[in-house]
Formats: sequence, C-alpha cells, structure tokens
Amino acid sequence: MHEDREHRTGEHCPECGAPRIDGMNCWEQLGAILALEWQDPELQAEHFMTVASYNLQHPAQFTEQAITGLAQQFREYLNKGLPVTEIRRRVAQSAEGKTKVLKPETERRPVLKLWSMTIADVYLPNQPQGAAARVKAWAATIRKELEHELLPNSSSAHA
Ligand SMILES: [Zn+2]
Repeated sequence: MHEDREHRTGEHCPECGAPRIDGMNCWEQLGAILALEWQDPELQAEHFMTVASYNLQHPAQFTEQAITGLAQQFREYLNKGLPVTEIRRRVAQSAEGKTKVLKPETERRPVLKLWSMTIADVYLPNQPQGAAARVKAWAATIRKELEHELLPNSSSAHA
C-alpha cells in the first residue's frame, strides 16, 4: 500500500482533479483512451463525447465563447443525438470565421473543480472492456454538473 505517498505529492490534475494512474497524468490517460478506439468500434463511436468531456473538464485553455459553444453542442448531442457530421460542420464554420478558440497560455487560469467522474474513472489500466460505457457515464455526470454553470440560458439560445 502506497496511499500515503500518492496523497502527499501533488499528483492530481490542478484543473479536473484526476489522480495520476501508473504515472500518467489526465492528458496522457485521454491519449490512452483514444488509442483504444482502433480496436473498439463502440468506443470510437463515442469519440466526440470523449474529447468534449475532457475539454469541458479543462476549460481554462479555451475562450469563453469556445467553451460555451462546446457545452451547447455537448448538450444537444446528448439530448437529441445531434449528428457528429453536423457538429463538424459547425466547428468548421466557426473555424473559418474569426472565432478564437484557444486562449494565449499566459491568460489561462486553471481552477480546480471537483467532479464525480474524471478521465481516471474511464481509463482503467488492464480493463479496456467497457470503455465506451464508461465514457457515456462520464458524459452524463458532466452534463448534470454543468447544468447550472455554463448553460444558464440554454433554452433561449435556440431563438
Ligand atoms: Zn485534468
């Protein structure tokens, strides 16, 4: 048991709070999940959810506008199954415009927020089975926990 060692060092992500797993930080855990997509079509089908969930738990790098837009697409996708092709079209559209997506690094201010699930609950070493289901569960908790933060006026956004 090495629990005391894990808790002593700052081994948690300063933004999403995910613990390191086998020395991998949360970004590396995301990479490990994405690498599984090649052998897991079900997981591959959740690609948008995986990346969106990760980004929504790491908003500091994005402009307000970008993160709000992402949260809306995420919600629409979960509500109505917004096709990924439509999401790609919109993303391409905003990329063509002058929309700034990323903040300059000096302006990023990560704030620790505690979530009921993080990437560390999705990436289970030696258990690639069921990763797609874990992504869905992860996305569902994020949706619930974001409800009152990023989407205060979501119903009027469709007007
Ligand atoms: Zn993190």
